[in-house]
Amino acid sequence: MTNPFENALAQLARANTVSPVNPTLLTLLQAPNREIRISIPVSMDDGSVRVFEGYRVEYNNARGPYKGGIRYHQDTDIYEVKALALWMALKCAVANIPMGGGKGGVTVDPKKLSKKELENLSRGWIRELADVLGPTKDVPAPDVNTTSEIMDWMNDEYGKITGDTTGAFITGKSLDKGGSEGRGTATAQGGFYVFEALRSRFGLPDKCTVVVQGFGNAGLNACELWTKAGHMIVGTSDSQGAIVKADGIDVDALKAYKKEKGTVIGFPGSTTVTNAQLLETACDVLIPAALENQITKENAANIKAKVVLELANGPTTPEADDILFGRNIPVVPDILANSGGVTVSTYEWEQNMKNEHWTEAQVFEKLKAAMNAEANGIADKAATLKTDLRRAAFLIALGRIGEAMKLK
Ligand code: GLU
Repeated sequence: MTNPFENALAQLARANTVSPVNPTLLTLLQAPNREIRISIPVSMDDGSVRVFEGYRVEYNNARGPYKGGIRYHQDTDIYEVKALALWMALKCAVANIPMGGGKGGVTVDPKKLSKKELENLSRGWIRELADVLGPTKDVPAPDVNTTSEIMDWMNDEYGKITGDTTGAFITGKSLDKGGSEGRGTATAQGGFYVFEALRSRFGLPDKCTVVVQGFGNAGLNACELWTKAGHMIVGTSDSQGAIVKADGIDVDALKAYKKEKGTVIGFPGSTTVTNAQLLETACDVLIPAALENQITKENAANIKAKVVLELANGPTTPEADDILFGRNIPVVPDILANSGGVTVSTYEWEQNMKNEHWTEAQVFEKLKAAMNAEANGIADKAATLKTDLRRAAFLIALGRIGEAMKLK
């Protein structure tokens, strides 16, 4: 599989071919400001101790504190975390929030840990990194396989070590621990606002057929939001496999089914397909909401969706971008489409800093206005430059980071 960090650097170079980027900025963005690898000793339930490898990459803080989630996954490694950290720097610039980019992770399959072991691991990650984190330094959040409960453990541990109990050093906490209204669904909600803002430009029908790859936080909430708006989910997947159902999936029923069986596979009325078949299913909108490297030069020619909207980070490789652009299939890039998550994270940070609590209506009103403005700005730029949305988004982000670096 392609190394996601090489893909991220190739995306930078690809943006530079359309409109030249400040060469010093491009050079500076080839590597993170700092990358930290830690060993986390964890007491296991059987009395043994296991050591897990963890990471925090602080990519760029020209626009504000490093910001980005923590991923728990068996395939997570330093290259993935570096790619995700660079994307965070660009994403926060696209979203126009006062944050830089960072990312964290642990190489672990969290499904194989007990709840107590997961808590020990999460507290351990904070113990090793408490020095570099902080509300004005580096502000983590959830990502793949990390939840508000994990953020709460981390927040508690950080408070014990530093005495800072404002919660402002970490976002995605649960509501009663200083979390923001709307944070749980913000990634999908932001993606939906972008979809709404751009739908007519894409010439999509009022009622779309939608394939959502992934049924985690982003994927499940996307299935719910698009269904609520009258669209039809015709395929989805989880880490165990994929299903399609041409006459539409009842998302509430699938959610209940998954809760009981632990997978979407076998959902009544659906057909089990491979992940590759799911991505190639005919639909109006394909929403990758799982991991990187899903749409590649191997399958980009077979994608039948009219539009791809990336709720996952890095699901499309640069070669696939070229193929899809050539086929006139717009790809709404991750750094725009999923930026609702970090935007509401930043609202959470702001509320914690000011000791305020905003209503859900306030949060979503602000989010909608922000996503609308950014989506239209990027689409306009792409039209002017006759390029794709990713290159336009990168150029806008790079312009903003470059400006901040000069000010510094
Ligand atoms: N993990 C999310 C992302 O990739 C959210 C990050 C955050 O809220 O800081 O954008």
